[in-house]
Amino acid sequence: MPVTVPVLLPLALPAPYDYLVPEGTAPEPGRFVVVPLGPVPRLGVVWPRGEGPAAPPVDSAKLRPIIEVLDNVPPLPRVSLDFAAWVANYTLSSPGMVLRMMMSASAAFAPLAPRYGVRSIGPPPARMTPARARVIEAASNGLTFVKSSLAEIAGVSVSVIDGLVDAGTLVTEPLPEPWAEPFDLKRERATLNPEQTVAARELVDHASDGFTVTLLDGVTGSGKTEIYFEAIAATLAKGKQALVLMPEIALTSQFLARCEERFGARPAEWHSAVSGPMRGRIWRGIAENKVKLVVGARSALFLPLPDLGLIVVDEEHDAGYKQEDRVSYQARDMAVLRGSLGQIPVVLSSATPSIESLVNAAQGRYRHIRLAQRYHNASLPEIAAIDMRISPPERGSWLSPVLVEAVEQTLARGEQVLLFLNRRGYAPVTLCRKCGFRFECPNCSAWLVEHRFRRRLECHHCGTFAPLPETCPNCGAEHSLVPCGPGVERIDEEIAARFPDARRVLLSSDLTPSVSDLRQTLREIEEREADIIIGTQLVAKGHHFPGLALVGVIDADLGLAHADPRAAERTFQLLNQVTGRAGREAIKGRGLIQTYMPEHPVIRALVSGDRDAFLAREIEARKGAIMPPFGRLAALLVTSSVRETAEAYAREVARSAPQAAKIEVLGPAEAPLSVIRGRYRFRLLVKATREADLQAYLRLWLSQAPKTRGDLRLTVDVDPYSFL
Ligand code: ADP
Ligand code: ZN
Repeated sequence: MPVTVPVLLPLALPAPYDYLVPEGTAPEPGRFVVVPLGPVPRLGVVWPRGEGPAAPPVDSAKLRPIIEVLDNVPPLPRVSLDFAAWVANYTLSSPGMVLRMMMSASAAFAPLAPRYGVRSIGPPPARMTPARARVIEAASNGLTFVKSSLAEIAGVSVSVIDGLVDAGTLVTEPLPEPWAEPFDLKRERATLNPEQTVAARELVDHASDGFTVTLLDGVTGSGKTEIYFEAIAATLAKGKQALVLMPEIALTSQFLARCEERFGARPAEWHSAVSGPMRGRIWRGIAENKVKLVVGARSALFLPLPDLGLIVVDEEHDAGYKQEDRVSYQARDMAVLRGSLGQIPVVLSSATPSIESLVNAAQGRYRHIRLAQRYHNASLPEIAAIDMRISPPERGSWLSPVLVEAVEQTLARGEQVLLFLNRRGYAPVTLCRKCGFRFECPNCSAWLVEHRFRRRLECHHCGTFAPLPETCPNCGAEHSLVPCGPGVERIDEEIAARFPDARRVLLSSDLTPSVSDLRQTLREIEEREADIIIGTQLVAKGHHFPGLALVGVIDADLGLAHADPRAAERTFQLLNQVTGRAGREAIKGRGLIQTYMPEHPVIRALVSGDRDAFLAREIEARKGAIMPPFGRLAALLVTSSVRETAEAYAREVARSAPQAAKIEVLGPAEAPLSVIRGRYRFRLLVKATREADLQAYLRLWLSQAPKTRGDLRLTVDVDPYSFL
């Protein structure tokens, strides 16, 4: 009887396939192996037998052997295999696609090339130049430098470094792994105030209870980070690994620096901007249990952490934790699942927790720690609404006179101003004054956004762009095209005209493409090299700008118009977060919110600071409507390049829905964004009570729904956050 094992491949296949085991080997579950799939050798993972879906049995004569067992790559830990199976089951994706996320470091599976750096050993070169002198000076501390960073520090090109190696002044030697430095847990650290001490003790004392979830709910600046640092320190002291998830890792250089200061060594970083070779090294270091502290984006949750002892989800309410392409998952929820599989504590931290987490806390599933005060009693910013009906901006301007005056006063005191508008570009719509023509994306049901800085019209859904023409393409009129409404670039223009002497910084993801540029800009702001910062939500998250005194919200109503059950909650969170950037230290902070709806509950909650009353109302409303977290949702999206095909198929899918007592199917309806990239979109929404087994229902439905044909596509999003 030949010995076989199931092998899961990182592909959208329904189940693992059986392969023959090479004689004399017994690859255990989790082991990486190379197997043939059709004519191609593929990297896969030995899967536990009898768990999850199984492929239909294969005639033993047709079985093919494993080509190679990768004994030198650490296997995926058992908990990762379980996690992959659970995530696939929960999100209705194929386990192979979850495995693919766990393997997103191809360099980890090839032999790791050693890295080399340079170190100064003297003697000085025979020929000295100013550039060479700068390098020698920069390397005089005797440390080993990465060539490119030494070149950067000294402000020279890499060829100057190479020349000094040839001259024998610098020597090439292997670089230590970045995480080789041990953490120093006995460093001097912040002395916690009584409120913080209680909170930290709560976290640390329960660290060995196995699986727990704690909601760390404290106003911005209350020291949540200092507090969960204590939990991280306790985890590291036990020799275990800790994982911190952040919604915008690219922006968190401040956080990394803070970790380094607190623990004496730099954590490993995991996000899309980490280079391929570095990903390989970090993945290996983690799988070998050498990397102990990882700070990463949502994808870090799928790292092979064999000895994970703590997960922290910072800014747990952030919508950035929801991934929508391929495997659609909510990383905060999956972090809780990972914690339960690993029997370890999970800390969810936020100044504006999600309603989901607050309800879990209220119902006793999560522990709830609240911090009401900013550290050192720095007071919370004073928030006021500007009623734009009473104090409208002048013609062609977007700032109310009230806001303009506040900016003037703030600048006069030498303090910083942040103006926030969650809209990239110059103007969201461009139209012809003569014939009323508007520029629309040829592929999407969306207007083209003018980007004046890049001199073009862009679609924010598909990326199409075109230069802005001189004449109207419809009626041929000249000088008739006018931008309508503001984007951040237009606010920047207004500020430049009003405050020509102020140093401005415009921050928008399309203008600051590289992570290192962005980090540099944020540092400059921190060091007060800018007076007015104008930005999109890029600036809202997590930064600490000590000189910032005034935050102006240009259009608070923007997010409230969305047909999204979380629109009010999300607007509250975003505006609370962005106004919370003001006055984090000694300076008294102020937030001014421009709105046409000052009576809206979100605006009133922001102004009064009565978060709890607002949330209580939201929670009641959700309860009444059986919306999350009191009910559960799943979205089905049908797309096709032909409108009729998409609509007809969506109707067929709806008709095939099984009957179930606690589950309701709504739709199909044309999606609010009815066309994206030339594909027509129809939506179905499944509403279930908490008791219903939503996944089982969806599986049954999909198994009996008519198969997609032609270019039709059907995708399922469990717990959707997007309804467009
Ligand atoms: P949060 O995460 O709640 O926004 P942080 O942990 O970032 O708050 O703290 C805000 C600021 O106050 C930081 O600069 C932090 O270093 C400082 N801080 C907080 N607690 C203390 C403390 N106990 N001692 C000294 N500084 C503190
Ligand atoms: Zn488009």
